Amino acid sequence: MLKDQDRIFTNLYGMHERTLAGAKARGHWDGTAKIIQNGRDWIIDQMKASGLRGRGGAGFPTGLKWSFMPKESDGRPAYLVVNADESEPGTCKDREIMRHDPHTLIEGCLIASFAMNAHSCYIYIRGEYIREREALQAAIDEAYDAGLLGKNAAGSGWDFDLYLHHGAGAYICGEETALLESLEGKKGMPRMKPPFPAGAGLYGCPTTVNNVESIAVVPTILRRGPEWFSSFGRPNNAGTKIFGISGHVNNPCVVEEAMSISFEELIEKHCGGIRGGWDNLLAVIPGGSSVPCVRGENMKDAIMDFDALREVGSSLGTAAVIVMDKQTDIIKAIWRLSKFYKHESCGQCTPCREGTGWMMRVMDRLVKGEAEIEEIDMLFDVTKQVEGHTICALGDAAAWPIQGLIRNFREEIEDRIKAQKSGRMGAMAAE
Ligand code: SF4
Repeated sequence: MLKDQDRIFTNLYGMHERTLAGAKARGHWDGTAKIIQNGRDWIIDQMKASGLRGRGGAGFPTGLKWSFMPKESDGRPAYLVVNADESEPGTCKDREIMRHDPHTLIEGCLIASFAMNAHSCYIYIRGEYIREREALQAAIDEAYDAGLLGKNAAGSGWDFDLYLHHGAGAYICGEETALLESLEGKKGMPRMKPPFPAGAGLYGCPTTVNNVESIAVVPTILRRGPEWFSSFGRPNNAGTKIFGISGHVNNPCVVEEAMSISFEELIEKHCGGIRGGWDNLLAVIPGGSSVPCVRGENMKDAIMDFDALREVGSSLGTAAVIVMDKQTDIIKAIWRLSKFYKHESCGQCTPCREGTGWMMRVMDRLVKGEAEIEEIDMLFDVTKQVEGHTICALGDAAAWPIQGLIRNFREEIEDRIKAQKSGRMGAMAAE
């Protein structure tokens, strides 16, 4: 289990002061100017050496992403944009950082922006996060008053402005290019790539979009060293990570742990076990609603990191772990996700606009068992026609949960169809 002295987020539960004084007492904003004075290349090299992979879901190496930004400006400004649009069902980790430990993020914004030659950074926060916005804005104001932001930020010699922008509650604005469109005041619709944001992002200028957690861990990594960070987790899966466990565990929680912890240890140590015991575990969605579910028996020994969860047919995603016990109607649970993705599709490309609705309507019938057995394969085929054929990853996000359901729970779907045909549905519901 991760020791307290190795936690980056020391106020995740809001038990201490979230003010600047409180943050400083916990070691934040310590030697920030000195870190910056080591120079851009040093910071990027340290980040690469730490092995940090993006915490927003895709897991792209953070230091490498930063190195894509132009070394010399061609006259255009560069921007860092922080994606705080946390809207993936089940995911609630960045929220705890912003409302309880906001200075970790603000200090990270300054250092990361300097490393990418950006004098301005925008944090795009989810529409529903009103108290979080207030807490973060109060912390930004405090940092300005203390000279940590603005001209010669934190005495580093770097002029730096930080802006907080409040979204209006659309899930798609968490997609990085839709986020940039929205930030520019347009409809939040994803852009075709290329060009990638590092070449032409916000206002057509070089931009890096990073997740809140990815940026908030930066100062501590640079203070304690990349070896310290990479000492947690398996190779290629380094560091500590915030996990958010919801659903049918005895004590749902958000907790910072070492990467590559086993699922069993995570649940036993922090969540008080599975509701009704391990034999009652039906399925787990290990990384937020868009990743495929895994059968309970395959999950117990699973390692919670990027590579290991791929081996069990899923993904670490945002590390939002949704646990479902045997009292769950798994078909209905996945139908609910289909409904969500249908609702949130921006409608720009046909496979997603039409496909999400089509998939939801078939799922609707599968929940009731009012379908033919052949339609299960047909539905799987449709998910394959949506997956990878759309402008952004929302199409994939809508397809994967259904693929996971069919791969893992085909028998349950077939049983329901057969029960409906034989008039046993009432009896099944009563079971
Ligand atoms: Fe919009 Fe869906 Fe296409 Fe993404 S995949 S651009 S959400 S229609």
